[in-house]
Amino acid sequence: MSETGLLLIEDDEAVAAALQRVLTGNGYLVSRAATGSEGLALLSPATRVVILDLGLPDIDGIEVCRRVRQAQPLVGIMIVSARDRELDVVSGLDAGADDYLMKPFKLAELMARIRARLRRVAAAPPAEPARIEAAGVTIDLDAHRAWAGGAEITLRPKEFALLALLVANAGRAVTRDRIMAEVWDTAWLGSTKTLDTHVLSLRQKLGVEAITTLRGVGYRFEA
Ligand code: CA
Repeated sequence: MSETGLLLIEDDEAVAAALQRVLTGNGYLVSRAATGSEGLALLSPATRVVILDLGLPDIDGIEVCRRVRQAQPLVGIMIVSARDRELDVVSGLDAGADDYLMKPFKLAELMARIRARLRRVAAAPPAEPARIEAAGVTIDLDAHRAWAGGAEITLRPKEFALLALLVANAGRAVTRDRIMAEVWDTAWLGSTKTLDTHVLSLRQKLGVEAITTLRGVGYRFEA
């Protein structure tokens, strides 16, 4: 039995039982909770990935997500939800989720996503490094310098902040709201054209196609 701990928070008994069977069969150690509060109580340092349903009977899944992220900054959080409204996905990602899967989904896809999440959790550094790197792009946060394909590139302050945020979250979706809040320091309610312009400029300067547009969600820097 693997010591990899998964925490499954799902109130649908049939779905939870089926998932637990498959996950256990794949060698994972699975804790199972049917409510948000039970799930938070079961969260432990041994938990590597939380599989979270958003529609829970007690605490809203988004709130559960926020509390899990607060308690364990490095744990992987994967939302599995039938609530396919764009807002829920975006709220979940803003609340700290790493990934999401819409019901109904293929078990093979769930397994692949869990494996990917575990690789990332394992690779996560214990402390924030001054240098971050992904897809051939290196950023020195202390020196405020950036390189793409080995050559240094000149970035404007907002471009640097945007690139640093995306690269620090390489492989993960970063929502427009989060970018506006962290890079432009504002809760942006209007047009995010400024953001699009900066992404366009970054793409040109990087010379590599590493920034993926996630329509209606935000951007992802490819790991
Ligand atoms: Ca549910």
